[in-house]
Amino acid sequence: MDDLYRELILDHYQHPHNHGEIPDADITYEDSNPLCGDKIRIDIKTENNVVTDVKFSGKGCAVSQASASMLTDELIGKSIDEIRKLDKQFVLDMLGIPLGPTRIKCALLPLKVIKAGVYGITTWPDEEDEE
Ligand code: ZN
Repeated sequence: MDDLYRELILDHYQHPHNHGEIPDADITYEDSNPLCGDKIRIDIKTENNVVTDVKFSGKGCAVSQASASMLTDELIGKSIDEIRKLDKQFVLDMLGIPLGPTRIKCALLPLKVIKAGVYGITTWPDEEDEE
């Protein structure tokens, strides 16, 4: 079962979905994970508080880039309120493989960027339950 998910992650890494930038985005945010060198930028276009387009760019390990690719797929059609409710578990379930503490930071970087973008702040409300 793990192999299936590993392949899925590799596939998203090699052929990322929603890759690029939106010049007139309503929400743009970027952040990095210095532990691994991952960088993620997310551009979101909204209409009436619903995501109509989303693109990501960045570089880094397979886990961070695949997580961004898979997560951006989930965002289109969601409201900003729904995005605010996405949590770590959503991302971990989406990736589907057990990740060590270092890799979890890679996996969660795109969510962190998206949350910071939709909240318009740089602190992450879920940060306190981090190990
Ligand atoms: Zn990484």
